[in-house]
Amino acid sequence: MSGFDCHTHTYLSNHGTGTVEEVVAAAERLGMQAVALTEHLPLPAEVDRDSCFAMREDDVSTYLHDVAEARDAHPGIEVICGVEIDWRWGAEDYILKRIAPFELRLGSVHMLTDEAGNSWEFDHPDYVGGWYERGVEKVWERYLELWLQALRSAVPFDVMAHADLPKKLGFKPQFDTRELYGTMAAAVASKGCMVEVNTSGLRKPVGEMYPAPALLKAFCDAGVPCTLGSDAHVPSDVGRDFDIACALLRSAGYTHATRPTRDGDRVPVPLEELASA
Ligand SMILES: [Zn+2]
Ligand SMILES: [Zn+2]
Repeated sequence: MSGFDCHTHTYLSNHGTGTVEEVVAAAERLGMQAVALTEHLPLPAEVDRDSCFAMREDDVSTYLHDVAEARDAHPGIEVICGVEIDWRWGAEDYILKRIAPFELRLGSVHMLTDEAGNSWEFDHPDYVGGWYERGVEKVWERYLELWLQALRSAVPFDVMAHADLPKKLGFKPQFDTRELYGTMAAAVASKGCMVEVNTSGLRKPVGEMYPAPALLKAFCDAGVPCTLGSDAHVPSDVGRDFDIACALLRSAGYTHATRPTRDGDRVPVPLEELASA
């Protein structure tokens, strides 16, 4: 009974299905001790041009209400009211004004943005052409720059989500990644932030979890705690492939996965306990 899933979505994301209640019920059926709802923080209209990347501003109160209601209905499981935050160029003030209600803050870079206000969703199949225009190495370089900028910002991220997301559509780094991975690990360690093994990559064109084994090893070597997330966008994906995630953690050198709590604690849970959950 010690399992947990720290990264889930609902229909309120505008690109998922299922309600908060259904996600919590799915986690409870799996015997989990905790589940975090981590809906996407609303984006400004000029960034979310298709109105499907994130929760709408006027849905936030529904989200908060639904999480509180599910918590009351399921006292046997800890229900964490989280949020997944898109880091964008210059978004620090925008984000800081909106995160007060949330108990767990995931940090993500889903789009390349710049000071001129341009944005490109590199992980979206409809915009895959941008990879050919820019070149794989340049995209990774720019991603790293934004990822490091997020960690240097005043936003109190608890977990950096899907750390090597740019590989999602299959564009893995073709260069020697030791420097990239070392830089990422050092930055996240100095922020005191966690990372996650995110199993959703198994269901994407890349066909592997985030992060890559060598990146996870770099995080482990740097002493960065690691949590577990399915990034479920349908309730049936809650906790999906966590046995494979635990095997990845073990092979990177981890003996525990870390379960965040509503009040900001971090509880190390031995991998043996999770494998039997
Ligand atoms: Zn994400
Ligand atoms: Zn997500």
